[in-house]
Amino acid sequence: MKVELLDGEQQSVEEEIKRGILFTTVEKMVNWARRSSLWPATFGLACCAIEMMATAASRFDLARFGAEVFRASPRQADLMIVSGRVSKKMVPVLRRVYDQMPEPKWVIAMGACASCGGIFNDYAIVQGVDQIVPVDVYVPGCPPRPEQLIHGIMMLQEKIAKERHRTEDLISLPWRRQKA
Ligand code: SF4
Repeated sequence: MKVELLDGEQQSVEEEIKRGILFTTVEKMVNWARRSSLWPATFGLACCAIEMMATAASRFDLARFGAEVFRASPRQADLMIVSGRVSKKMVPVLRRVYDQMPEPKWVIAMGACASCGGIFNDYAIVQGVDQIVPVDVYVPGCPPRPEQLIHGIMMLQEKIAKERHRTEDLISLPWRRQKA
């Protein structure tokens, strides 16, 4: 998140950095850590998945946004990119993958098919994956280009940066539970 600083503030922040001290809130720190290390589940359904794979490869380099570590296990992932049409047969599988992902987790509906069924207005295709899982960001297109997916991920990062937490939730973060 970009923070605008006045001249005097900029100087004092630089001095504090030289001394190795930075002040922030736990909430901002947690949001910064979460948005800077999104781990998508390795989960592709159709043609859109090819664009998703290209996004992670060298030309588009999703690593610049801290989100290139695609995990084969949903238990290690916090981002589901639904890339492609969802057939009704896939619904229980998709929901199980989502349920196995630990909290907090986010979902991007990539492409027209995942967002609303796209050209497949028929009995076999789900008319929008938000009927199965909560969607945070919709990426339009058929297929969306990698730049569009990256834009969607940046929008998600902005959303995560603005998340508010209850004090109880911050106190019960995993590291506190392990320590107790
Ligand atoms: S949106 Fe287009 S590219 Fe993506 S899965 Fe549907 S038909 Fe394929």
